[in-house]
Amino acid sequence: MDIQFLGTGAGQPSKARNVSSLALKLLDEINEVWLFDCGEGTQNRILETTIRPRKVSKIFITHLHGDHIFGLPGFLSSRAFQANEEQTDLEIYGPQGIKAFVLTSLRVSGSRLPYRIHFHEFDQDSLGKVLETDKFTVYAEELDHTIFCVGYRVMQKDLEGTLDAEKLKAAGVPFGPLFGKIKNGQDIVLDDGTEIKAADYISAPRPGKIITILGDTRKTNASVRLAVNADVLVHESTYGKGDEKIARNHGHSTNMQAAQVAAEAGAKRLLLNHISARFLSKDISQLKKDAATVFENVHVVKDLEEVEL
Ligand SMILES: [Zn+2]
Repeated sequence: MDIQFLGTGAGQPSKARNVSSLALKLLDEINEVWLFDCGEGTQNRILETTIRPRKVSKIFITHLHGDHIFGLPGFLSSRAFQANEEQTDLEIYGPQGIKAFVLTSLRVSGSRLPYRIHFHEFDQDSLGKVLETDKFTVYAEELDHTIFCVGYRVMQKDLEGTLDAEKLKAAGVPFGPLFGKIKNGQDIVLDDGTEIKAADYISAPRPGKIITILGDTRKTNASVRLAVNADVLVHESTYGKGDEKIARNHGHSTNMQAAQVAAEAGAKRLLLNHISARFLSKDISQLKKDAATVFENVHVVKDLEEVEL
């Protein structure tokens, strides 16, 4: 499982940073890629990665500001051009209005897609659990931006314990169907009368990962709730230390506020994105340094950077 950042800039693209989009790569887990936001040019960024557009099965949109959605019509159309590959359906989750935006863009431009899009729109009253599969649950909660905007909490379900084959062999269990029984939690008795308790040979289930990906927001308790015990929190940092007032006026956060959220939530790791083009590279190291005084495990991400979870 990893996150690859496709666009880490705020508002408008710069040479170094494209507008918002990131890919949560779940290839080992479910052979899918989930996109979060899709700013203009996202498809160009994807060309610089190993991500195959057909593998993108779900797109989660945080809010309808252009720098988070203008890449959708282009990406969706290009995804259709992989003619020699099987056309797979796509799910889009996002605030009410996302369906009208996508369908209007496709209709006006005469674009016809050879696959289906299923829309899951929500508003203030229909948030909470927005998706549940056998391996993942996704929750959304409203943040505090200038328009309706949500954050997502992706929770991987706990992973089954694994069988300790070496220990079983050492205990004299012959390799074969008995292994399967023990794996299923069944206790067995060997021919020589030895009792084998399944629980002694299966490791404890491993807790699934928690990934929190927020849209644009002022500092708010909803962010903390979404990020409780998260393995990773992706938080915007449109402004730097000392800019709290202007951040508030524009519906955004500073690096310090993002760090406070991570600390209050007990998150393990904080990744800062939505970085303003005003920041030069020395400012970026300062952003990190300042934030680290509040929350140590912090990093300012770059376009195309891949972070393993
Ligand atoms: Zn915005």
